[in-house]
Amino acid sequence: MPAFKTLDDLTDIAGKRVLVRVDLNVPMTDGKVSDTTRIERVAPTIKELSAKGAKVILLAHFGRPKGEPVADQSLSLIAPSVEAVLGQHVAFASDCIGAPAADAIAAMQNGDILLLENTRFHKGEEKNTPEFTAELAKNGDLYVNDAFSAAHRAHASTEGLAHHLPAYAGRTMQAELEALEKGLGQPERPVVAIVGGAKVSTKIDLLSNLVTKVDALVIGGGMANTFIAAQGIDVGKSLCEHDLADTARAIMETAKTAGCAIVLPVDGVVAREFKANTANETVDIGAIPADAMMLDVGPKSVELINGWIEKASTLVWNGPLGAFEIAPFDTATVSAAKHAATQTRAGKLVSVAGGGDTVSALNHAGVADDFSYVSTAGGAFLEWMEGKELPGVAVLTKG
Ligand code: AMP
Repeated sequence: MPAFKTLDDLTDIAGKRVLVRVDLNVPMTDGKVSDTTRIERVAPTIKELSAKGAKVILLAHFGRPKGEPVADQSLSLIAPSVEAVLGQHVAFASDCIGAPAADAIAAMQNGDILLLENTRFHKGEEKNTPEFTAELAKNGDLYVNDAFSAAHRAHASTEGLAHHLPAYAGRTMQAELEALEKGLGQPERPVVAIVGGAKVSTKIDLLSNLVTKVDALVIGGGMANTFIAAQGIDVGKSLCEHDLADTARAIMETAKTAGCAIVLPVDGVVAREFKANTANETVDIGAIPADAMMLDVGPKSVELINGWIEKASTLVWNGPLGAFEIAPFDTATVSAAKHAATQTRAGKLVSVAGGGDTVSALNHAGVADDFSYVSTAGGAFLEWMEGKELPGVAVLTKG
């Protein structure tokens, strides 16, 4: 991975105005922040800069206001939660540019923290216009990006600013980039990827990229049905994208050329309805009843997958192996997740997971803390798995 600057390179910053891009796009229920995970993730960077005497000026988006102010997408609603997580006073400015921002910054003492209003209240943010970026840049001497989860967007506050100010990765961005490097950048081999989830259609790019990079690709979840059906095997009423049979076959062909083993389920747990605790049975692939749907991979498949986890030095995981939200179809996901956690704890495996429902699946299995790294980044993590360059990362690493 090309080098990027971190907070370690920021030593003499007392009194410096540091613009810090953070992810405060937190879920709200009844006007209250219902999950502060994202705030907790950026807290170390904010605290470190504040402790070094910088004037810490936070930039973030919230929701999708489409370039104009929307009252219920104001970051003033999030400010109290940021203050609570940091345990430090956080001032708020009613605009991220212009007089409100300038006045609030002028009033800052060294070590103070200021949250500027939602950057997406201006059209220039998502369009990354030079005018808007220059207005943002006026407020800072240095730029720190700690929002990996927004790094797949080339917006003013995630990409543009790095062209105006000396740019650094925050601690969360740094941890994410280091973990991803261990996952697919310069991984220890063998590398095994587990990809599950509902559909192939949302993960074609991801699967196509992985087969060229990993030694084995385990396919589970609903998407496995498409691969099984593409081999002429009846999958009954299982979720299956029959129109993607050619795509599935092409991915398997690419895998063969690249020397990547494709691991498909050999058995499955089938049911007649998509409902918790509904009557179910375990059948071999090839014996799925015409009126049944496969909702989880079966025990023989789990054994096979766990064997691959044991062979692996590196594991990259996205997507559940079954319909993990409804018991007992969480069995395979929980078992494989626990096995990966055990191998990781024993120091035998580097395990990197993320994207979509993966975090909740690992939380459900109670092992998220045992993985080497679990990314909460969603879209950015998936684009990384697709092998795409993330603009917010590229500007940090290309200098
Ligand atoms: P994704 O967002 O693509 O990772 O898909 C996650 C969703 O896939 C979860 O809601 C699971 O319930 C669903 N899923 C996984 N396996 C199956 C399956 N065999 N049949 C139907 N849905 C599934």
